[in-house]
Amino acid sequence: MPWLFPKVWWRRPAKEKTLYLTFDDGPIPEVTPFVLDQLAAYQAKATFFCVGENLERHKEIATQVMKQGHMLANHTHQHVKAWQLSPVAYFAQVTKCQEVLETLERPATQTKLFRPPHGQLTLRHLRTLQPEYQVVMWSSLAYDFDQTLSPEECLRKTIASIQPGGVVVLHDSLKAERNLRYVLPRLLEHFSSLGYSFQTL
Ligand SMILES: [Zn+2]
Repeated sequence: MPWLFPKVWWRRPAKEKTLYLTFDDGPIPEVTPFVLDQLAAYQAKATFFCVGENLERHKEIATQVMKQGHMLANHTHQHVKAWQLSPVAYFAQVTKCQEVLETLERPATQTKLFRPPHGQLTLRHLRTLQPEYQVVMWSSLAYDFDQTLSPEECLRKTIASIQPGGVVVLHDSLKAERNLRYVLPRLLEHFSSLGYSFQTL
């Protein structure tokens, strides 16, 4: 897939022992504060691809995410699928989410990062998004949202898929909560003990 989409980030230049954790679909009170506590325990920084509607509902959590040195980014206003919307309608969803993000205090120079829900995109959609947004995909997907996967299996597979410079997707969502609560602390422990650090994109 990467060759299909020019200038999209799938991973970062393989800096020695740096990982880029990303959390999609929040912020929500049931899961996001847990994520923040885990990250703080390892001095880890991460990027949160937020759904605009969740941002509107939980602005105080979003503010907390920023205060702790993490980055907020765009994941459309209502978690819509590119294959079901015209590029124009899709762009409106992205703009709506961005407007909510910008009501929160953010550094003015920050790059606008966008991740398409479900990783769905077409070249036509991509062209409307660039150059205003940097589109970010991933190199490792933790299937934390897959409730048929045991937490142990989810952890094992996720660790096996991660390489230096990797962009890792996890979810601060209700669907992923069970696996995430098991996987995240162990993932942080595992890679910290190997000398890795965790940075924002
Ligand atoms: Zn999503």
